[in-house]
Amino acid sequence: MSKARITVVGGGIGGFTAAIALLRQGFAVTLLEAAPAFAEVGAGVTLSPNAMKGYVHLGLAERIAAAGVEPARQRIQHWQDGRLIRAIDRSDMRTRYGAPYVYIHRADLHAILVDAATEAGGALLTDAGVVAVEGTTAILHDGRRVEGDLVIGADGLKSVVRQLFEPEAAHFTGHIVWRALAPVTPALADLAEWPGMHIGPGRMVVRYPVRGSQILNMVFFARQDGWTQDGWTIPAERSDLETTFQGWAPEVQSMIAAAPEGRLYKWAINARKPLSTWIIEDKVALLGDAAHAMTPFMGQGAACAIEDAIVLSRALADSGSAGAALKRYVAARHERATFIQQESNANADRLQAANTELFGLEGLRNEDTLGLLDYDCRTVPV
Ligand SMILES: Cc1cc2nc3c(=O)[nH]c(=O)nc-3n(C[C@H](O)[C@H](O)[C@H](O)COP(=O)(O)OP(=O)(O)OC[C@H]3O[C@@H](n4cnc5c(N)ncnc54)[C@H](O)[C@@H]3O)c2cc1C
Repeated sequence: MSKARITVVGGGIGGFTAAIALLRQGFAVTLLEAAPAFAEVGAGVTLSPNAMKGYVHLGLAERIAAAGVEPARQRIQHWQDGRLIRAIDRSDMRTRYGAPYVYIHRADLHAILVDAATEAGGALLTDAGVVAVEGTTAILHDGRRVEGDLVIGADGLKSVVRQLFEPEAAHFTGHIVWRALAPVTPALADLAEWPGMHIGPGRMVVRYPVRGSQILNMVFFARQDGWTQDGWTIPAERSDLETTFQGWAPEVQSMIAAAPEGRLYKWAINARKPLSTWIIEDKVALLGDAAHAMTPFMGQGAACAIEDAIVLSRALADSGSAGAALKRYVAARHERATFIQQESNANADRLQAANTELFGLEGLRNEDTLGLLDYDCRTVPV
């Protein structure tokens, strides 16, 4: 199959990881990105060792780790007084899993992926929004037609390619989020040194350092009944956070005070219900959020996109036909991604339960205890 021409729709984490993996296997790849430039929102992302194994496979792990921060530990704290509920040791991730645990600014990760895909010889097109797919041809917004042998839909939550599978739009999950980046001042130093989260009824606050621990990535989660605005960069006021997190611990108030006015954004968390399959014959496959957009309460959405990309590239390289490869891909990936989608929802209820004091007392269920970090997309049977 190595001469096949593959069209990847979407230049996010999933699309770029797939493009690099496929180019390395000898496929001719055209990547189509709707935006006028390759870019990612100004926020952090956690790449747990299962995700980083994908980048070890692509020879990019050390570049990514060097651009990010590897935490030695994390803590989960009580919303009211910040008391320690649970400490998590992250100092042994490389020896335990064979890959690091990395916090990184999304723009820094994106720059590394764009470079690697360019070096590998990909045809990378911006301002190339796909409006429809006919067979294995992608139709662009300006009428251009991109012919190929296979289309991979990596076009995220609002995937156009997914419309071949179901007409429904993504649904609002009842969770909203504010995010901000702030310089690590003395008031935030302990929070950068000990990344983690404050948990409380119906709300939580996550923080971790990026860019050499010079910047603190802060994410504030709450629940809300309805939502009508669209976009990832809706400007928000600090006073929204002061009201929503009134009575929360002093460290949370320090984070709110540090959130820069004018660069504080909010958005709705939308997700997808599981699809029964992500492939159409030998023509189309979905990956990442286009296939299984999930709530972020396990920090595994990008990890799943990376795992999908590596497993799909392995299936295509090892199969005699695209049809056989796509079947092997979906068989290898569907159950795991669907499980993580469901567990991510359940984790919101566990982390944001009415009685914070009881958190984890009946046994903790998270990405560590569920064994999600053990998964190895390089060697899992395909
Ligand atoms: C608050 C929050 C925190 C999160 N934190 C984490 C975390 O710590 N760890 C983790 O693993 N995951 C995390 N996630 C999930 C993660 O961000 C997503 O799962 C991941 O970015 C999905 O990548 P993707 O490439 O599938 O889609 P996207 O990143 O959405 O990329 C899709 C790309 O396709 C382009 N596109 C869209 N439509 C078209 C079209 N018609 N034609 C061409 N191009 C198109 C878009 O412009 C975009 O570049 C978090 C999510 C949220 C909401």
